[in-house]
Amino acid sequence: AAAPSPAGSLAPQAEIPNDLEAFWMPFTPNRSFKKNPRMITRAKDMFYFTPEGRAVMDGTAGLWCTNAGHNREPIVAAIQAQAAELDYAPAFQFGHPKAFSVASRIAALAPGDLDHVFFANSGSEAVDTALKIAIAYNNVRGQGTRTRLIGRERGYHGVGFGGISVGGIVSNRKQFGTLLAGVDHLPHTYNRQEQAFTKGEPDWGAHLADELERIVTLHDASTVAAVIVEPMAGSTGVLPPPKGYLQRLRAICDRHGILLIFDEVISGFGRLGFGFAAERYGVVPDMICFAKGVTSGTVPMGGVVVRKPIYDAFMRGPEHVIELFHGYTYSAHPLACAASLAALDVYRDEDLFGHVLRMEPVWAEAIHALRDLPNVLDIRTVGLVAAIDLASRPDAVGARAYEAMDRCFREHDLMVRITGDTIALTPPLIISETQIGDIADKLKRLLTTLH
Ligand code: PLP
Repeated sequence: AAAPSPAGSLAPQAEIPNDLEAFWMPFTPNRSFKKNPRMITRAKDMFYFTPEGRAVMDGTAGLWCTNAGHNREPIVAAIQAQAAELDYAPAFQFGHPKAFSVASRIAALAPGDLDHVFFANSGSEAVDTALKIAIAYNNVRGQGTRTRLIGRERGYHGVGFGGISVGGIVSNRKQFGTLLAGVDHLPHTYNRQEQAFTKGEPDWGAHLADELERIVTLHDASTVAAVIVEPMAGSTGVLPPPKGYLQRLRAICDRHGILLIFDEVISGFGRLGFGFAAERYGVVPDMICFAKGVTSGTVPMGGVVVRKPIYDAFMRGPEHVIELFHGYTYSAHPLACAASLAALDVYRDEDLFGHVLRMEPVWAEAIHALRDLPNVLDIRTVGLVAAIDLASRPDAVGARAYEAMDRCFREHDLMVRITGDTIALTPPLIISETQIGDIADKLKRLLTTLH
C-alpha cells in the first residue's frame, strides 16, 4: 500500500455511528453497502483515509470533483476565513464582492464571448438553468416557438427533470414517468469495432453529428431551442468525442439558429488539460454548464457561462424589472465563492492544467498497458480520464465491475468508480508519474485475480 501522508496518521479518529439506516444513500445499493460499509473519515492530497487509518489512493477525485487534491491548505483557509467574515448573503437584490470576482474569473477562463455567469449549486441545477435560459432566450428574441431540446443517448446531465429528459442513460429515466415533452436524442458516439483501445479522440464517428440535421428536418428548425452534449461523455463510461464531431454539431446549430450547450460539469477546470474542454476542441458553444471542479469539490457550486448576445438579449426591458425569473437561495454562496477563488488560484499557481497535458501520455501508456488482462474488452483514455470496459458476467450485468470496485477499496487501497461493467478513473490533477504507476500496478493485481 502507498505510504499514508503524515497528516493522515496525526488527525483524530472520527466516531462511526451504529445506525446506518436513516441515511438513504444516493446512487448506491443501500442494503449491500450497509451490510459491509466502505467508510471514509479523512482525506489529504491524493489519499482518503479509512476509520482504521488505512490510506486509500483516490483514483476518482471524489466524484470527479476534487481536482486540486484533498484538504489543500489555501482552500481550507479561504473557506474558514469566509465563514468567520460573511457566512451568508442573498444574491437576490443584494451582492457580495466575491460573487462578482468569481464570475469574472470563470468568464476569463471560458473561450470567446462566454462572458456572463449564472450561479447554481450543482451540476443538475446548472443544466436546468441552461435549458431554461435557452427557452427564455428564444422567447425574448421573438422566437417563442423554439422550445424543443435535443440531448444524446448515453448523455448524463444530472438528475433534475430537465437533466434526465435530455439525458440518455436508461436506468436514470425509466423510474420517473413521462419526463419533459418535446425532447429528442442524437445517437451516442461509441462503436467498439471502430474505436477499441483509442488514446484520445477516435478517428471514427464525426458523421454521427449529421443526425442533428435529420432531427431538425423532422421538426423544423423553428421549433428547436437547443442541443446539449457533454463534450466528453463521462458518467456513461468515458466517450471522448470523435475528431471533428463537435465542429460539425456547431456548424449545424449555426445553420439553423439553434443554441449549442456544452455540459462541462466534469470536463471543466482542467480534467482535459484546459479550463474548459471547449478550448481543447476549438469549439465555442453558446453556454457552458459547470460545477464540481469550480470549488475543487469543497463546497457545492455550479453554474452556467453564457455568451454575451444571450445575456444582452435579456437586458432590454425596463431597468427595474427582473430579467430572468430564476435563481437559488444559495446562488453565489459566500463560502462557495471563497472556495472557488482559492481553487482557481491553486490551479493557476501550480499550473495544474498544464500538468494534465504533460501527464496525459504517461497516463495513457500506463492504463493501456492493462489491455491484455483477463476480461478487458476496451480501454479509453483522454486527459486525466480513463475507462476500462470489462466483459459482463452472463447472468449478472454490472456484478464484475461492482466486485472490482469493492476489492480495489478493500484489498488494493484504491478508490475507483464504476458504471455498468466499466471501471472509470479520474484522479486529482496533482497526481505524479509515480502515483500513476501505482494506480496501474494496483489495477493489474486486481484484474489478474478477478473472475
Ligand atoms: N452533468 C454532468 C456531465 C455530470 O457528470 C454530472 C455529475 O456527475 C452532472 C451534470 C450533475 O452534477 P450534480 O451531481 O452536481 O448535480
